[in-house]
Order: sequence, then structure tokens, then C-alpha cells
Amino acid sequence: MRGTVLYGPGDIRFEDRETPRIEQPTDAVIRISATCVCGSDLWPYRGLQPLNGPTPMGHEYCGVVEAIGSAVKSVKPGQFVIGSFATSDNVCPNCQYGYQSSCNQREFITRAQAPMLRVPLADGTLVPTPDMPSDDLVPSLLTTSDVLGTGWFAADAANVKPGSTVVVVGDGAVGLLGVLSARQMGAERIIAMSRHEQRQNLAREFGATDIVTERGDDGVKRIVDMTNGIGADSVLECVGTQQSMMQAIRCTRKGGYASFVGVPHGVELSGEESFFAHVHLHGGPAPVRRYLPKLIELVLDKKINPGQVFDLTLPLEKVAEGYKAMDERRAIKTLLRP
Ligand SMILES: [Zn+2]
Ligand SMILES: [Zn+2]
Repeated sequence: MRGTVLYGPGDIRFEDRETPRIEQPTDAVIRISATCVCGSDLWPYRGLQPLNGPTPMGHEYCGVVEAIGSAVKSVKPGQFVIGSFATSDNVCPNCQYGYQSSCNQREFITRAQAPMLRVPLADGTLVPTPDMPSDDLVPSLLTTSDVLGTGWFAADAANVKPGSTVVVVGDGAVGLLGVLSARQMGAERIIAMSRHEQRQNLAREFGATDIVTERGDDGVKRIVDMTNGIGADSVLECVGTQQSMMQAIRCTRKGGYASFVGVPHGVELSGEESFFAHVHLHGGPAPVRRYLPKLIELVLDKKINPGQVFDLTLPLEKVAEGYKAMDERRAIKTLLRP
């Protein structure tokens, strides 16, 4: 089998790797139907996150079960399944509280940009669809594995409710699906912060009512002006930089909620500013597994079409071009088909 390996900044190779097989009785091996490149893959690709030698890549996946270990009960060969980027047993206390991405047995999936993938803790991690989905639904189903699940968590953690005024910081795929999620949760006003026309258009299609192009302090000022001088009820931070984080907290009204789902890189918060901000702050790796059944149902019922975030589709072996297009912001998100 060939799979994706990152050797260093900008150096993605699609090369021979060992074909995955069952190693533990709780494993499943799946044949990938579709995978994709994540915004978080770009941090090491850009050299902004250290690598320990050549690193297999990919953590968003869906596909058909090929083999299961002897202890696996909830999925069987031939079923179409989707799983989170973080594995979970779905029974430990953290899982029971709905934080499966902090499962006591968690492992992060890192080899999904390949034709085959071993998924540990298959029973707790994978969710099967009732039937084999039609091929046109596969991109949207794939988004539930991370990017939609993360956008949904961003909206949920920011306490989006019917009637809320919401701000989304970041116009990457997660931010755009944060807009879609806020719309599904009944937000009345959704302000997307974006300077990129194509992304603004998609944000509007997903439910954004307003677009703000300013950033940093100017962006904060615009949001405060637009919200009667108080800030928004719910702000979703979907980038992970110091500027975007401060923008999010400063756009939130007193007593409001700011969520952060972009993996923070070099972000530091001042205790004093956090104290006087009077903001509920909640974030982390999204507990995608909590939302999978609901999000899969929304896709299968055609209530949402999150697969629209994929504006570039490539054969898996062209994965290097998929990274490059996202790095140069020529593509919002790259879909890869084996
Ligand atoms: Zn991801
Ligand atoms: Zn657990």
C-alpha cells in the first residue's frame, strides 16, 4: 500500500508503507472511501510544528469495514463507517460526560491519507450508517469525522441558541461549518469575519447574515458597533493564533461565550484581561464522537450539505498538490479519493 508521509516543511510524499492489519482484538481495518487535508495538517507542513522524522498524515476518514478484531461487536465487515480523529472507548467517565476526545484510552488517528486505515477501539470510535450511502453523500459524511464535528462543537461550546447573535472568527473550513452549525442551532444573526470573496459567498450560503472584513482591533470595533456597543452572545474562534483568540474574546459581550477550536499556536492569555472580560471560555479538541450520530443523520436526510467546503477533489496519489493548494489558499479544503 502507498500512503501519505510528511518529511519536512512542504515535503509531502505518497510512498510505500506497510498495509494496516488487525493488531489488537478491539481494532478494525477500513478501506477508505474518502479522506482529506485538514487545516491542522498545515501547521507541520509549514514548519510551524516540529516533526520527529517522517510522519504519516491524515485523520479525517470514512470507508468500508474490511476486517475486525475478535472483540469488536458494533461494526462488521462490509459496513460503511465514520469515526472521529480521536479514538474513544465511549465508556470511561470522560466519554460518559461527552468528552470522547479526552477518552482515557484516546489515540489520535494519524494515517488516514491512505487507502487503508487501522482504527483502534473500533466499537467506541466508529459509527456505521444504516445502509451503504450513495457516492454523492460521501464528501458530506466525511466532514462529520472532524471539520463539521469541530464547527459544531465550536457553536455548541459557544452556547449558540435560537435567537443568538454569533460571530465566527476564521473563514477556513471549520469556521464556515461553524456558520452552518450556528444556523442549525437557530442563531438569528451570524457575522462571519472573512476577507476572501469565495469564502464569504459560502459563508452566506451556510447562513451568515453579515460579513466583516476588518481584523484585529478594527474587527473588534466593527463587531461592537454592530451589536449595540456590547459584543456578541457567542463567538467561535476557529484559527488558533494570538490575534484571532484576542479578537474572539474582545468581541464577546459580558456574560457571553467564546469557544476556541483552532489548535493554539503561541497563544497566551493575560490573567487580568481574562478576569475582566467576564466571558465563558470553552474549547479543545472537538468531541466529534458525541455529535456523529446526529450529524450523520442530518447529512443522510439532506438537511445540510457540508461537503460544499471541498472545492478541490484529487486522486489520493496527488495529495502533495492538495496540501500545496490549501497552503497557498487556492483551495478551502481538499478532498482525496483513493
Ligand atoms: Zn482535522
Ligand atoms: Zn473513554
